[in-house]
Amino acid sequence: MLFFTFFGGFFELLFGLSAFAFLGFATWYASSLKYSKGLRDLWFGLFVFFLAAFFYQRNSFFVYYGVSADILVFLRLFLTIGASVLFLMASSHILLSKELPAHILFVFISAGLVLSLYAVFVAQNAEMEQNISLIVPMIGLAYLFLSFVSQPNLKHHLGLLIAGLVMFGFFEQMAFFTFLGLPFSYVFTLSLLFILAASYFLMEAEFCALDKKEIKQNLEDFSDNMMNILKGSPFPILISKLTDDTIVFANKNALKLFELDASELSRYHFKDFFVDADNRKLLLEKLEHIKEVQDFEVLVKTSFGNTPFWLLASANVVNYRGSMVLYSAFQDITSRKLREKALQNQADRDPLTSIYNRRYFEECVSKKIESAHMKNKNFAVLMVDADHFKNVNDKYGHKTGDKVLMEMAHVLERSLRPDDVVARYGGEEFVAFLNDVDEDVAVTVAHRLKNAVSNAVVYSESGEPVSWTVSIGVAPSGISDEVSLMIKMADDAMYMAKQHGRNRVELYIAENFKNFENLSDRKDQYHPVFGEDEDEEISLLDGIETSHIIED
Ligand code: GH3
Ligand code: MG
Ligand code: MG
Repeated sequence: MLFFTFFGGFFELLFGLSAFAFLGFATWYASSLKYSKGLRDLWFGLFVFFLAAFFYQRNSFFVYYGVSADILVFLRLFLTIGASVLFLMASSHILLSKELPAHILFVFISAGLVLSLYAVFVAQNAEMEQNISLIVPMIGLAYLFLSFVSQPNLKHHLGLLIAGLVMFGFFEQMAFFTFLGLPFSYVFTLSLLFILAASYFLMEAEFCALDKKEIKQNLEDFSDNMMNILKGSPFPILISKLTDDTIVFANKNALKLFELDASELSRYHFKDFFVDADNRKLLLEKLEHIKEVQDFEVLVKTSFGNTPFWLLASANVVNYRGSMVLYSAFQDITSRKLREKALQNQADRDPLTSIYNRRYFEECVSKKIESAHMKNKNFAVLMVDADHFKNVNDKYGHKTGDKVLMEMAHVLERSLRPDDVVARYGGEEFVAFLNDVDEDVAVTVAHRLKNAVSNAVVYSESGEPVSWTVSIGVAPSGISDEVSLMIKMADDAMYMAKQHGRNRVELYIAENFKNFENLSDRKDQYHPVFGEDEDEEISLLDGIETSHIIED
């Protein structure tokens, strides 16, 4: 019972404890605020002020237990001054973001101590005591009020509300007590503490919103900076919409590279720059599997469709101003590509005639055979060998021999279709792959080649016209699909043609070549060494008349 009397009643006690607990929690919760230290001191100040009021209001209780009334008045005064010093400390935090310097604190507290001692024990003047307990906290609170008002964020928001409420509460209580003589109710102060705590929460929320605004602003600044970096990048950069493929951004280098009109970017589509428009789809497909494509080599053209050039593109899908876009940066690799192509050509082609070499032929034809199989198409391999070529060299010199080989390559290439393949197989031997031909057509084509070659003329160094003939072996599809075996069959047929008098076409027919192993072994035998008899007059067109096996 006495306990409850001490605190003024059970509900007042409950209310008081929960108010302070709530305020303590709010102070902790608002610790991220810029003003949290100031708010903490304010909270402390209010607590001390509450204690002062408590000692004063409950003095009869303490007096009952033998505490001197003077001591109680002194405690009240000293705590009131202490609370004001705490208000000043709070102001210092809010105004200057600084702790109040220790020496000023010391001066304030000493002055408060001396003043309280003097008023209570020396002057023993009740009016003086009353004035101190009113004026000192008023000074502290006025300071606090001013410091709240001076802060732009607090001024416009809840700081003003807090300061206003606290001051209002104070003055009202003083008025109750001083002028109306009504008992001083600390329940009212506690209510204010609740309001203060609620204000902390609101303030924290307010600051969070401010933070968000700041973050948004920072992001906008960042994105502006990024755009400036992209604009000044030494690499051409394009940004296109994923939805309709229109260009939404092109930096200076991209405008120049693709010959774009900066004022009408949206009329361009990214895929229009690709020589093969499917490349955009391919790029996006790649991006479905990996975050960033870095090595996409692509042949492109400008908006006017000028000479295609090679670019190395790195691309990724990013969010740009709220929608998903394809970001692509480029590097011109045309000269590298040309160099690579030249090197590849060197590796694939015969240096004398510039047509493909044997290695390339075998590689390419094995793929063609595979594809012909899938499409269920026939094909043929031809072996074309110059007749008595040694004689050309002997008679007209090696240089003229070279000329003959070059012309022969030229004639063969010109006489075949683009999807056929012709290559120099060795010295004066050429091979051809004929796409989509049956046996008969292959033989007809071989005759056409034979005739085209025999109609060709080159001139020796001394200006003499030089003509020559060829023997051709034809290997049709259906016997073996191995390139090397097909070549061997064509070679066997070609030797057969030699054997039968040259300047002819011979078709490989399995039965005729049954014993060809033997024939091959004895090839030299069918391969009369030209010039066995040095004096023998030999026509380079020797054999034309004797070609009867397969008629043109
Ligand atoms: P056959 O009708 O039996 O084929 O007789 P051939 O003289 O054409 O055949 P042979 O294999 O006896 O001789 C081929 C000649 O081709 C020998 C070689 O000097 C010549 N030859 C090979 N490569 C080149 C070349 O790059 N340039 C020149 N000028 N001649 C070459
Ligand atoms: Mg020959
Ligand atoms: Mg030969």
